[in-house]
Amino acid sequence: MADPVCLVSYHEIGLKGKNRRLFEDALLLNLRTALDGLSLKHLGRLQGRVLATFEDPADTRLAPAIIRQVPGVARVMVAWRCARSEEALCASAIAALSEAGPFETFKVHAKKSNTDFAMHTLDMNRVVGAALCEAFPDKKVLMKAPDVTVHVNIVGGDGYVFCDGVRGVGGLPVGTAGKVVSLLSSGFDSPVATWMVGRRGACVCPLHFSGRPVTSDDGEWLVRDILEALRPAGIAGRLYVVPFGEVQRQVALDAPPALRVILYRRFMFRVAERLARIEGAKALVTGESLGQVASQTLDNIQAVDDVVEELPVLRPLIGSDKVEIIERAQELGTFDLSSQQATDCCTLFMPRRPETHARLAAVRAAWEALRPEPLVQGLLDSIEYIDLEGCPSYRPPRSLSERHSDLSPAKVV
Ligand code: ATP
Ligand code: MG
Repeated sequence: MADPVCLVSYHEIGLKGKNRRLFEDALLLNLRTALDGLSLKHLGRLQGRVLATFEDPADTRLAPAIIRQVPGVARVMVAWRCARSEEALCASAIAALSEAGPFETFKVHAKKSNTDFAMHTLDMNRVVGAALCEAFPDKKVLMKAPDVTVHVNIVGGDGYVFCDGVRGVGGLPVGTAGKVVSLLSSGFDSPVATWMVGRRGACVCPLHFSGRPVTSDDGEWLVRDILEALRPAGIAGRLYVVPFGEVQRQVALDAPPALRVILYRRFMFRVAERLARIEGAKALVTGESLGQVASQTLDNIQAVDDVVEELPVLRPLIGSDKVEIIERAQELGTFDLSSQQATDCCTLFMPRRPETHARLAAVRAAWEALRPEPLVQGLLDSIEYIDLEGCPSYRPPRSLSERHSDLSPAKVV
């Protein structure tokens, strides 16, 4: 009798030498969390892969679509785990190939690890290959680049037989790269940027600036829906929301109109850096892409970065075209949400002619004239948060829970 199981492979973690165990532990923890809704029975290492088994065999079929979204996963296969006998291996290979989808050509690839199984892998290839030729008489064996490869692995006392499976998102397990604060709007770009740093192993604290109390909280709800769409990736620990409308109003009243957008961004970045210090985050992240809009010229990027004192500002999309970003947003399920128009702080008090090539000296002068420090402190004092599910490596900062102990998730609603 063979039973279906999931096998998960993870190329890049394998390259991490001494840290390998750390990366594998993080991956296991994240997978366990992602699979929370299914009847997981066992999750553990198996010869350079992860093995997952389920109480309910139907869950084995549902799991790959979830597992493939977890950063660090290179591939997910549904495998037949069977006895090491020739008959069992051949029967499992026929079952696996029957489920492989449309194909014309195939080959068998046998491998043994950590086992006393006597049969040579070349003989395994031959025997299983012959059984498959008999079962699929109109299909052809092709050694170079076949449509499907049937893998026959003997690991310890068991056989595992599987086809190519589905590709995972790759990257590294969330939590292995430290924390970042990501400036998240409800637009197309920043959700993709947020996901990209998460895929490289960062645990992300999204930070959203709302136009509240001047605008409604529509944008905040969109951001929450966007984070819900990203939830299977398990990248985001805690969402922070800053009611930004009043400070924007003040900037609009007191500062040169052309510099407004840059000054709004400077407030955002300054608050983000302070929050990063509280959170122990080591970088800020934005969804900017060079030249995409007026605020994203090199001059303006410099004029905004100037306000950040220590931390690097990561811009994963700086060299991406809008088409590529949109494609990724569609894959991630954030596209439709970002397409919705929400009145948020981005549309609030926009100047008719924003500066596209700001001079640093002028920006600094306008900034100082606003006496920004008490405003920044006020924004930090009014920060709200909601803890998100699905990111087990996230550790909340102690100082903030003390300072904002009265803020419950309901406060953000
Ligand atoms: P996006 O599609 O991410 O909204 P955009 O193309 O609209 O980006 P900008 O409006 O110039 O570009 O914003 C640049 C970056 O500033 C965003 O990618 C995001 O990281 C940050 N940002 C903009 N608005 C907000 C906001 N309301 N809250 C948090 N971050 C924001
Ligand atoms: Mg935007």
